[in-house]
Amino acid sequence: MELIADCGRCAGLCCVAPAFARSADFALSKPARTPCPHLSVGVPGEPAPCTIHAELPERGFPGCVTFDCFGAGQRVTAWSDWRVAPDDAFGAFDVMRALHEVLWYLAEPVDALAVERASLADRVAGLGPEADVVAVRAEAGELLGRVSEAVRRPGGPALTRADLVGKDLRRRRIADASLRGALLMGADLRGVDLGRTDLLGADLRGADLRGASLSGVLFLTNPQVTSARGDASTTLPARVHRPAAWG
Ligand code: SF4
Repeated sequence: MELIADCGRCAGLCCVAPAFARSADFALSKPARTPCPHLSVGVPGEPAPCTIHAELPERGFPGCVTFDCFGAGQRVTAWSDWRVAPDDAFGAFDVMRALHEVLWYLAEPVDALAVERASLADRVAGLGPEADVVAVRAEAGELLGRVSEAVRRPGGPALTRADLVGKDLRRRRIADASLRGALLMGADLRGVDLGRTDLLGADLRGADLRGASLSGVLFLTNPQVTSARGDASTTLPARVHRPAAWG
C-alpha cells in the first residue's frame, strides 16, 4: 500500500475537499468542496497542479505544506475523479486519508507486535470508503499503545496530551516519554535526545528541533516534521523526509 502522497497522480483533492479559514496557515477562506483559486483544475484523467507550489509559505499557505494525505489522494483519484463524480470522490477521500494514516502508524519499523500489526494492517488495507473510521482508529490506537509500551525504555515521563506550548525542554528528560497528543507548539527542543519517545499525534508546529535527535522516535509523520523547525544536524527516522529548508 502506498503511504506517500504522489500529487502527480492526484486531481488535487486536498485543494478542493476541505474548507479553509483565512489564518496563519491559509491566505484565504474557501468553503468545502470548492477548488482553491490557485489550483489548476485541468480536465478529468489529468493531475490538477497547484500554480504556486514552489512558493507556498511565501504566498501565505504554510498549511498546504504541512498537509499529507498519506497516499490517499492518488488512490481515490484512480477510483473516482472529483471533476466527474464529486460526491463519491470527496466522501471517499476523508475516509481513505484516515485509513492511510492508520496504516502509516501500523508500519512503524520496530519488531514489537509485528505479527499483530501486520494482521490489522492487512484488514485496514482492504477497507473502502464505507469503513467505520472511529472503530478502526480505536482498535489501532489500543494496539499502538502496546507497541509504545514495549519499545520505550522504562523511566520515560508520562506526558500524554501535556500542554508544553512554548516551553524550554532542553534540560528536562524527554527521551522515551509518551508525548501522545501533546501540545509542543513553539517548544524549545534544541539538542534534545528524544530516544524512543512516542510522538503519535503530538503537535510540533513551530517546535525548535535544531540539533535534536529524533532518529528513534515512534509514530512521527512527515506533516509533523514539516511544521517544525530543524537544521542539518537534526536526525530523523529513515522513513521520514527531511524538509529542504533544514539543509
Ligand atoms: S494554495 Fe496550492 S496547494 Fe494550497 S490549496 Fe491552493 S492549490 Fe492547493
